[in-house]
Amino acid sequence: QLIVLGSVNADHVLQVPSFPRPGETLHGRNYQIIPGGKGANQAVAAARLHADIGFIACVGDDDFGQKIRGAFAQDGIEISAVHMVDNTPTGIAMIQVSDCGENNICIAAEANDALTADIVNQHSSQIAAAKYLLMQLETPLAGIEQAASIAKANATQVILNPAPARALPDGLLAMVDIITPNETEAEVLTGIAITDEASAAEAAAILHAKGIATVMITLGAKGVYLSQQGSGKMIPGFKVKATDTTAAGDTFNGAFVTGLLKGQTIDDAVVFAHGAAAISVTRFGAQTSIPTLAEVEQFLAE
Ligand code: ADP
Repeated sequence: QLIVLGSVNADHVLQVPSFPRPGETLHGRNYQIIPGGKGANQAVAAARLHADIGFIACVGDDDFGQKIRGAFAQDGIEISAVHMVDNTPTGIAMIQVSDCGENNICIAAEANDALTADIVNQHSSQIAAAKYLLMQLETPLAGIEQAASIAKANATQVILNPAPARALPDGLLAMVDIITPNETEAEVLTGIAITDEASAAEAAAILHAKGIATVMITLGAKGVYLSQQGSGKMIPGFKVKATDTTAAGDTFNGAFVTGLLKGQTIDDAVVFAHGAAAISVTRFGAQTSIPTLAEVEQFLAE
């Protein structure tokens, strides 16, 4: 089984012609509340691609929180560890998507802040029994560290998508088997600005030195830089017309680990994940943009 631990957000999304400057008011359109949150997006991606997946998360006791648990179950996610927190709203993100497909995002953790080490400990046997544990950084670090140490003690592989960008303690990095930063996150973790393959290799070397065996830096439309045991290479992505890149990285991560869970080689899992992420960038929203297994298989066959 795959365990995803992470955030759940209600994304309040508005399409805008361009991003407003301070003090400026612009007319947006197509307002929607779309299920999001990096943890939930990655869990949904894995579930739609037929991974056997359990999700550890905290939602609020608001209308959105009640409905989203049901939606996760509908997607095939095992939700016994999706907690509902009293008198707290579900996490939110305020997202503006510009006409050229870029986004601008402000988030508030709300119920996600309740995902502490205590909650994680309630699910230690599930983490211990899993093959892979996939996490991001939208929930409290203490809970993430606790989950990583339970995984480490039980030979569960730890995959960390270190998003949103922040510096991390060496103790946590030493427990990670595979790390999947984007360019910004890689720079925050290593101090190396990623501009080309050589700088990606330099950043990867720093992360290897912290004890991480596999480093995969995602480079947007360019694909990924994959580095293992001192040998690195580019694996290019697919060329598509971008509509909205929200959740591209999340779809990539959920799909990548699903590929591994199904026994694919790391290279094959990256190509599978590129296919899933490429489809997601052609569609609007977070969980609304995540493809099914049939859609990815058809895309890869074309
Ligand atoms: P994040 O969304 O976390 O910033 P990236 O932008 O690096 O992550 O994208 C993650 C993955 O999504 C890429 O490795 C690629 O597979 C896919 N992707 C992102 N943007 C595009 C794009 N414009 N065209 C095709 N694939 C894309």
